[in-house]
Amino acid sequence: MFKTTSVIELSQSALTGNVQFLKELIGEHVRFSSVVKGNAYGHGIEQFIPMAEKAGINHFSVYSSDEAFRVFKASSGESEIMIMGWLDTEAMQWSIENGISFWIFEAERLDKTLEMAKRLGRKAKIHVEVETGMNRTGLPEKGLKHIMKKILDNGEHLIFEGLCTHYAGAESVANYVRVNRQLSKFNKIHKKFILNGLKPKYRHTACSAAALNYPKTRMDLVRIGIAQYGLWPSAETFIQYIHGKAARFDPLNRIISWKSEIISVKKVNEGEFISYGTTYLAQEEKTIAVIPVGYSHGFSRMLSNQGRVLIHGHRVGIIGMVNMNMIIADITSIPDVNIGDEVVIVGRQEEREISISSFSEISNLVNYELLARLPERTKRIVID
Ligand SMILES: *Cc1c(COP(=O)(O)O)cnc(C)c1O
Repeated sequence: MFKTTSVIELSQSALTGNVQFLKELIGEHVRFSSVVKGNAYGHGIEQFIPMAEKAGINHFSVYSSDEAFRVFKASSGESEIMIMGWLDTEAMQWSIENGISFWIFEAERLDKTLEMAKRLGRKAKIHVEVETGMNRTGLPEKGLKHIMKKILDNGEHLIFEGLCTHYAGAESVANYVRVNRQLSKFNKIHKKFILNGLKPKYRHTACSAAALNYPKTRMDLVRIGIAQYGLWPSAETFIQYIHGKAARFDPLNRIISWKSEIISVKKVNEGEFISYGTTYLAQEEKTIAVIPVGYSHGFSRMLSNQGRVLIHGHRVGIIGMVNMNMIIADITSIPDVNIGDEVVIVGRQEEREISISSFSEISNLVNYELLARLPERTKRIVID
């Protein structure tokens, strides 16, 4: 295929380092599940899965069955896969046949699972998601007796792989009380399962923020998304982690870099508007560089007249609106810029760096959203 207008580079050593740090933190008795929903947070499932396996990961969590299928194809075949959300009937059959586990958050899904497991003559691996206060998916406490009985009565068709829940904002101290309430509620429900003779293989509740800042939420398995990609769930999470530590360095490293190149350089006279409309007026003669990346490539329109890129090791401003396929950088202060010169949108160039979070602070997008917007078609390459 032809070269895309920008390229995403993924650093194996950064990922390996992040996984090592996180595994040390959670301890060897806690299983590490790598969350790769949203096309591995924009990193690309096909590229990321082999990298993660190389870094020692052998458990992946996805949101939907189409993602599970892609992970299955990209994986060496040794890893386990867990579906946390969407699963249609056809995919349920495929999941059961291939030992892929999935969450149960509706009684109806449990019935369907049993029916299918019986028909296929294979045990289905299930995780029971319980409602503890997020009020999204999760089985309410009220009907749990019924669910427990069904699982007990159908032991030959089911593997009780997990009991789980999800916190409503563990990345913010403001939710401290709510998170702790969810944790106690979960523990109470777990006791009930045990009293009824149902012991899940894994109790799991923690996302990155919970795993980092609330040790009691780690239990038997943690579901780590954003942190493995080298980003903190929020600035607060980092501050909380670093508090009281002697060495104040950041143990996580960004895996992703995003690069393009200049396709046109020219001068614009004083008094002219640049790009669509009238949002940018040249108050002096300007030299501009055109970069073939726009909002269709994941560069948010909110970065119009605000974003920054690196050219020749200088941080330069984006001027005018972000177009569908192009942005314009002000290179007036840099001599000898040519067509084909490298542009760093995220990452390092000489002494300077543009991080995902510096980016998201300007545009008010959280790290998660910025990454998830990176389109699948952009070429991704793995570097050391
Ligand atoms: C996305 C997700 C995670 C991972 O969250 P991070 O903050 O990226 O670590 C964990 N559990 C569930 C249910 C999720 O949807």
